[in-house]
Amino acid sequence: KAKNPAQPEFHQAVTEVLHTLIPVIEKNPKYMKHKILERITEPERVIMFRVTWEDDNGELHVNRGYRIEFNGAIGPYKGGLRFHPTVTLGVLKFLGFEQIFKNALTGIPMGGAKGGSDFDPHGKSDSEVRRFCENFMMELYRHIGPNTDVPAGDIGVGGREIGYLFGAYRKIVDRWEGVLTGKGLNWGGSLIRPEATGYGATYYLIEMLKKFKGKKDLKGYNVAISGSGNVAQFASKKVTEFGGKVVTLSDSKGAMYLPDGINDDIWNAVYETKAIKHGRLQEVAEKFDLPWFPGKKAWEVAAKEAGEVHIAFPSATQNEINAEDAKTLINAGLIAVVEGANMPSTLDAINLYFENDVLFGPAKAANAGGVAVSGLEMSQNAQFTYWSAEEVDRKLHDIMVNIFNTGVKYAEKYDKPTNLLLGSNIGGFVKVADSMIDQGIY
Ligand code: NDP
Repeated sequence: KAKNPAQPEFHQAVTEVLHTLIPVIEKNPKYMKHKILERITEPERVIMFRVTWEDDNGELHVNRGYRIEFNGAIGPYKGGLRFHPTVTLGVLKFLGFEQIFKNALTGIPMGGAKGGSDFDPHGKSDSEVRRFCENFMMELYRHIGPNTDVPAGDIGVGGREIGYLFGAYRKIVDRWEGVLTGKGLNWGGSLIRPEATGYGATYYLIEMLKKFKGKKDLKGYNVAISGSGNVAQFASKKVTEFGGKVVTLSDSKGAMYLPDGINDDIWNAVYETKAIKHGRLQEVAEKFDLPWFPGKKAWEVAAKEAGEVHIAFPSATQNEINAEDAKTLINAGLIAVVEGANMPSTLDAINLYFENDVLFGPAKAANAGGVAVSGLEMSQNAQFTYWSAEEVDRKLHDIMVNIFNTGVKYAEKYDKPTNLLLGSNIGGFVKVADSMIDQGIY
């Protein structure tokens, strides 16, 4: 903490991972001998830069850009870019650190990275977003490349932003290459990439229920989803396909209750409002006359309005389920949490899940479908080819099953058979740590 002051999210992520690694460290002295913990918590490279851009009125603004190239032992650095006013070095270090283990779990050779800016795309015109993206890329381009570092989207960085970033990169380097993922389908993107995180996390949830509850679908379950962005949209679609009832969606302004679950009309309106128009979820609630709760979280609304909540599917941001929220959900009959967002549960909330036998699908395993399909997008670009939606979806499903099985394998090996947090952390760690040892001292 003294070495990395004012980075509470990074400390939290490291604490969570290191705590679960104790048994594997005790059993394998080589990790201490090679100082793997000291090395793996120190980014290989941190890039910070100024981004100056001009708004529609000709006024100049200064934001800070970042790229954390955390660990490249098993493949090119890979991880999203986040544009949100809460972005700090500590937030991106937590995300980059998590990404190392997540990427290792996918089985695709990708190192861990993260980046972004404290730029807020809310309320900005398309031209302002484009000018910001161009100026951001003016510095970032020299640090990335299809075999070096391949960024993707995250909060505030969707198809529009990836388009502007890719256009700027191509113009600067005068090459078409798969330097970003999440690209448009006409220009190198992969089918199923937009769906991948939400679909993948639902596949993971089904594996949890199959193994630990003997259930193959979500029939009879109320599912509280938070957020209404990329992850939440496709999670709500897949959950509904599996027979679950989605009882909430939310955004940074409040939560919407869905007494009859989500149907195609509501889903299309959410997609149109959030992904295309970059608007407010409240507009959807008003359009369909659905109850809207300003300033409330999905968990409280779900518990109060639906009465019973069986599954929590956080898909907005970090630390969105604290101990109080976890208690609310547990009192409403919670049986499983599947993390679509990164680190959405505080450490106290996670302890409460374990104390109350709630099944827990941790972010770095459950939401790895997005980066996995980004890896498949890189493969398609490298081969100058496109795969069908069915093929990518099948590969995504297989990868999610493998990630789940890796977690189970290590959880059982270390005598905590239902602890997928421990199993997934160890599964990701040993692969990266052993690779670092193989590659010498650096
Ligand atoms: P989007 O920007 O598409 O959506 C984010 C959603 O979360 C929006 O509804 C947003 O509301 C809400 N939100 C963001 N910050 C806050 C906040 N501080 N408080 C309350 N609500 C908030 O992002 P994604 O769906 O892509 O990402 C969501 C989460 O999933 C993040 O944790 C991300 O790291 C993680 N993730 C995403 C992957 C992907 O493939 N997209 C892959 C793996 C993880 P509003 O619109 O009002 O801002």
